[in-house]
Amino acid sequence: MPLKIGTLAVVRKVDELRRVVAQWHRAGDVVALVPTMGALHRGHLTLVGEARALADRVIASIFVNPTQFGPNEDFNRYPRDEAADAAKLAEAHCDLLYAPDLAEMYPAGFAATVSAGPLAEPLCGRFRPGHFAGVATVVTKLLLQACADLACFGEKDYQQLQIIRRVVRDLDIPVRTEGVPTVREEDGLALSSRNAYLSPEERRIAPALHRVLAEVAVRASAGTPGDEAASWGAAAVNAAGFTKLDYLEIRDAESLAPLAAGRPGRVFAAAWLGKTRLIDNEPLPPIPGAGTVEAGGKA
Ligand code: AMP
Repeated sequence: MPLKIGTLAVVRKVDELRRVVAQWHRAGDVVALVPTMGALHRGHLTLVGEARALADRVIASIFVNPTQFGPNEDFNRYPRDEAADAAKLAEAHCDLLYAPDLAEMYPAGFAATVSAGPLAEPLCGRFRPGHFAGVATVVTKLLLQACADLACFGEKDYQQLQIIRRVVRDLDIPVRTEGVPTVREEDGLALSSRNAYLSPEERRIAPALHRVLAEVAVRASAGTPGDEAASWGAAAVNAAGFTKLDYLEIRDAESLAPLAAGRPGRVFAAAWLGKTRLIDNEPLPPIPGAGTVEAGGKA
């Protein structure tokens, strides 16, 4: 019998996890997995709700994965509160928390990695070397550990979602992936565990990122050339008070390649408010022309 945190069952070992899932499968249950790094918010809980709607049993995993953080990134200060997360998961009718420790995920001598391929090169891949290999490796492990029938991921991390879909297809991992639309604050800011880092002044500026992306999408859909719409967006993000823009680009919604006419697109951006890096994206229906703007630093 798994241990409990409050009312939620928790397992920390792969073999325990597999035993529980095998039992559920023997009973004919459909099992869903929601991988997370904890510090749970309404976005994560919406994924749990979606999983709940699609499956008989829902597992959430919490693992702050060191291999997807760069040496100067926020691994050490990433918010962690397992008891609070467990209470939220119980309330969202999650059946099981899988919370492995570092040694369970990366035993001594661990060396194999999953390469995410060309989808990992543009956008965040350019600014976070090794990040998506870390993500692809840990998500592959979680999927193979849980043996769930389906797994839910947020469109908030859209490049990650496309990479995971590619890895699942290419490595024949027997799981269905479900993308869930981004959950936002009332002012449009995409919910993120990292929003907790924002000062009140930064929090006031933050929703501009989504406002600008939405406006870029409107402009591009109305016929403004993609390059021009993206340049306008880059300037608007800087003018809103962001301290640095990593990129604001229009790309193909599936391949993440530069957008060709007539293809569904997506507008992507990553921008900094002080020490906090925010990402967001917005869909773009097929348009006659499109483009890419790289923006390093202030416009
Ligand atoms: P994280 O804990 O940040 O690794 O996120 C775990 C999962 O929750 C990923 O699939 C994310 O894309 C998803 N997620 C995070 N924030 C949101 C959001 N605001 N809306 C929808 N999904 C989200």
